[in-house]
Amino acid sequence: MLHERRLPADLSQNLGRVYSAKLRLLDWLLRTPPLGLDDNTPLVTQFGPALGKWFWGRIRREKIRTAFGKAVMALAAQARANPAQAALVADAIAHDAQFHTQWSVVGTELRFPRLYPDWLDGIKGVALPFYEWLTGGFEPKSFNLTGGLVSRAALMKAFRAQSQAVCGYCDGPLGELGSQYEANDCDHFFPKAQWPHLAIHPANLFSTCKGCNSTWKLARAPMGEADASGLNGTYHPMLRPGAPSVVVTAVISPTNSRQVKINITDPTVPRRAETLVETLDLDSRWTNSANEGLDRGISVLVAKSARDKGNGWQPDADSVRLLIEDDIAWKRAQLGKEERCMRLIAVLECMRGDLLHEVIADLA
Ligand SMILES: [Zn+2]
Repeated sequence: MLHERRLPADLSQNLGRVYSAKLRLLDWLLRTPPLGLDDNTPLVTQFGPALGKWFWGRIRREKIRTAFGKAVMALAAQARANPAQAALVADAIAHDAQFHTQWSVVGTELRFPRLYPDWLDGIKGVALPFYEWLTGGFEPKSFNLTGGLVSRAALMKAFRAQSQAVCGYCDGPLGELGSQYEANDCDHFFPKAQWPHLAIHPANLFSTCKGCNSTWKLARAPMGEADASGLNGTYHPMLRPGAPSVVVTAVISPTNSRQVKINITDPTVPRRAETLVETLDLDSRWTNSANEGLDRGISVLVAKSARDKGNGWQPDADSVRLLIEDDIAWKRAQLGKEERCMRLIAVLECMRGDLLHEVIADLA
């Protein structure tokens, strides 16, 4: 959530078309639930021949009905039993689908499933398979897409180009470039178990490093219940990147003078930095990685120092401070392009001040 990540416009638009097909299906089932589906006629009438037949291929006749088909009929039955509430659920889902246009409006909140928890399982059954189908990809013909398949691998590959091997969530390394495994590190900003109607929303799927992805999967949602204070209290990789707002500092550990503790704050909206830290365990991850670097020798983190030392250079306070300032300037220029810059700048600033004598001793 620190660095901005967004899909290329064409891919975002195509994913949006698939997402809109999913929304239209949910809306149809909630507002005008069919009594039964014995052939593809109602679907073709409602969604046109290409998409109607695509849906039918995944629903099937009653005797050979798929799990998805059964979920579709179950949601239709629930909507028939409580049409008034079904319409409210449809309204809530339509509202939530626009969250990306309302992000900066104070008071924006997600309404489903918070207001209608009884409908979560029913919506999940219909909405989540769309994410599973993303593995094989959605083909252009049925969804009126431009270009090739819209698939999870294609989405993750598109993020790789802009991320330059830096995780947009934590500023750490994204991992080996282009590997098959990497293509699977797909995170849902709004976890899909809790917000299935947003699972393939174009502003909800992002590539992350394995650490962020697996931490996320512990179901730590960054916005709590996604009520108004929730959305206002978190960064978002596309709509509100955190890097320009957070202040990262390193202070010497009270228990070990050659180790640091990293703090991440946001002086303007403190809650956002707290959410970031809580959700991604970021202060301890950054503290650990900085101290691993310091364990190898304090001067290791000053990039030019080893080379200059090899040239017979004798360090003193002024020259070491200059070296560190050079490194800070370099890291600032590389922010978002090179991994771990944010934490390293904080450590270098600490070295320039409280740790200076240790660095000089290390280099001598
Ligand atoms: Zn990460």
